[in-house]
Amino acid sequence: MRHFEFIDGEMRAEGVALRAIAEQVGTPVYVYSTATLERHYRVFDEAFPTRSVLVAYSVKANSNLAVLATLARLGAGADVVSGGELIRALRAGIPADKVVFSGVGKTQDEMSGALTAGIRVFNIESEPELTALNAVAVSMGKRAPIAFRVNPDVSAGGHEKISTGKAENKFGVAWSHVEQAYAEASNMPGIEIVGVDMHIGSQITDLAPFQKAITKVGELIKTLRAQGHPIRSFDLGGGLGIPYGDNAGAPPLPNAYGALVSRLTQDMDVDLIFEPGRMIAGNAGVLLSKVLYVKEGADRNFLIIDAAMNDLIRPSLYDAFHDIEPVCAPGSDFTETLYDIVGPVCETGDTFAKQRALPPLVAEDLVVIHTAGAYGAVQASQYNTRPLVPEVLVQGDQFEVIRPRPSIEDILSTESIPNWLV
Ligand SMILES: *Cc1c(COP(=O)(O)O)cnc(C)c1O
Repeated sequence: MRHFEFIDGEMRAEGVALRAIAEQVGTPVYVYSTATLERHYRVFDEAFPTRSVLVAYSVKANSNLAVLATLARLGAGADVVSGGELIRALRAGIPADKVVFSGVGKTQDEMSGALTAGIRVFNIESEPELTALNAVAVSMGKRAPIAFRVNPDVSAGGHEKISTGKAENKFGVAWSHVEQAYAEASNMPGIEIVGVDMHIGSQITDLAPFQKAITKVGELIKTLRAQGHPIRSFDLGGGLGIPYGDNAGAPPLPNAYGALVSRLTQDMDVDLIFEPGRMIAGNAGVLLSKVLYVKEGADRNFLIIDAAMNDLIRPSLYDAFHDIEPVCAPGSDFTETLYDIVGPVCETGDTFAKQRALPPLVAEDLVVIHTAGAYGAVQASQYNTRPLVPEVLVQGDQFEVIRPRPSIEDILSTESIPNWLV
């Protein structure tokens, strides 16, 4: 469910007209709904009524401090993949003992920062990384709690750029090395084994890969325990898909996912950890943009809008579908027009949609690109010296800018011309 609906002929985010945000903040702009964030967090959390779970929101999906603070108030933990994300999570009020640290390339500085903070667990992705963490922990007189991210070698569908659970992907410890990795870890003075971790991909729209992977890891937990390793937690990662408005198959609902996980793990005697990202933030955000020009090409019409691939890269990077709508509800009597919807950036890849049927639009009309709350603003860049797109959070009938649009001067002030040129 999303809280972006037409009321009295115009689209609102909860109680706020998107037009009002565009007038005050300008376009393009990301707009997030507090109610949707809260609802999605609760739906996920409540999918496990009979046991306590740690929902460690995947910060990389949308890492704005205001989004993190909204989730922190509901009791969320955080899954971070860098030292910067760790600092964000702590700054937003997420307690360190609810933070899990993932990622294939943690630096020693990041490790010591996380040990000082006292995070819940390091998800370790390779034996060299384990060796490095052990050395850091020993030098600090600490023991680092770890789980290995195991690679169960299942195909989770989805786009090849977001599949992570296959043997050929860079993620996780190869299945054939897992037992050896745990044996090594158990002999290291700076390491404390606490669990096992997996994350098999993103935008997964079918429960079967989860079922396969969970079953496989369940067997592994038995094996590891028989070898004397104290496996107390099972981190199932994120990856649950969400509807983007196309016809690519409805993803499973969180409670179906929850029921599957509960059934498969009920006899495992483990604490469950989840790392949902997209499922929480995706439909909680839109990218609001303005039509600059309508250009009649040789064989098609182009809708040139003021948002571009540097603001939302998913269509260019993953061939992602995003539903696009005008902010003003069309009257009842109109003929749909086919548009290629493109941005101003000098790349052919700067295309949000091809041959999309919309009511006829003219310059200055506002449009929303839906389902842009996850992997949107966080992947934005200043390519073409376009200022980073600002972000706004709505709650009820109020809204606030939670990251302003930088000026061109702000951008240029971070650069300098070396002495020999001046
Ligand atoms: C990206 C990521 C997630 C979140 O994935 P979603 O598809 O957004 O739920 C969770 N865990 C890890 C390790 C990740 O890299």
